[in-house]
Amino acid sequence: MSDLKSVSPESSEPTLLGATEIRALAARLNVSPTKKLGQNFVIDPNTVRRIVTQARVGPNDVVVEIGPGLGSLTLALLPKVAKVVAVEIDSVLADALPATIALHAPNLKENLTVINADAMKIDSLPHNPTHLVANLPYNVSVPVVLHFLETFPSIREILVMVQSEVADRMAAVPGSKIYGIPSVKLTWYGEVDKAGLVGRNVFWPAPNVDSGLVRLVRKDRNLDPELRETLFSVVDAAFGQRRKTLRTALGSALGSPQEVEVLLRSAGIDPGLRGEQLSLADFVAIALQAKKVT
Ligand code: SAM
Repeated sequence: MSDLKSVSPESSEPTLLGATEIRALAARLNVSPTKKLGQNFVIDPNTVRRIVTQARVGPNDVVVEIGPGLGSLTLALLPKVAKVVAVEIDSVLADALPATIALHAPNLKENLTVINADAMKIDSLPHNPTHLVANLPYNVSVPVVLHFLETFPSIREILVMVQSEVADRMAAVPGSKIYGIPSVKLTWYGEVDKAGLVGRNVFWPAPNVDSGLVRLVRKDRNLDPELRETLFSVVDAAFGQRRKTLRTALGSALGSPQEVEVLLRSAGIDPGLRGEQLSLADFVAIALQAKKVT
């Protein structure tokens, strides 16, 4: 441990982890980052500071962090919030995190709970999270955000780092080529915006693509889970065959082309349109109509 800097005595803010500390920690734990788990660790303190600033968290907030890895972002979050609950699938990393925090931020170690699990399988947490903040593993980025929005209604705001192209899709608007399943489903839960670009050199190992920050602010409304289920299956069907018109594409979800035609007309939607031309409100109109007839 002598090769790692600990908390600086003159300030209450911990010293954040840079390239030297991250590589030393990985070497000591015998960790080689794997692509399968999307392990690209942030080695730049300015980037984690930027993520925390963009996350707009405060002293009463409880943050769930998915994939804390070696702890770069966790260490920057802890001084700003009441609690961090970190969910890490890799047991070597999960086991090592409390000691890393105890070394660099001993006065904050009680505010961290580490859960060694697949985030996709989490259905309860020891504290109700108000925010989700993460540098997400790229292979599960959108499903994991949807899973947490669905499972934890207490989450008011999300700030995640994902591949730049995925950030574009998450925040896409109707009519664009990249508008699709993630854009509509996330908009069901809240307002989605891009919150900045991040270059590849702030990671170890450096990925082949740039990254982007995405923010979601949950809408303050009562979301009907049954309507959501119908809506999501309509959205999946519409974009499953995105070149086809709704009349054809929605067959798998809603019935024969004739039935779909009647249903769409009753919802006020032209059956000759394609999914990429519809707003969330249009999809909701279709789902409400589908619920009426089933
Ligand atoms: N937060 C760290 C950072 O910024 O340096 C690490 C981010 S790295 C991009 C993604 C992390 O997510 C890795 O630590 C990886 O082991 C973890 N991970 C991958 N799949 C996961 C899953 N399904 N559930 C929880 N953690 C996962």
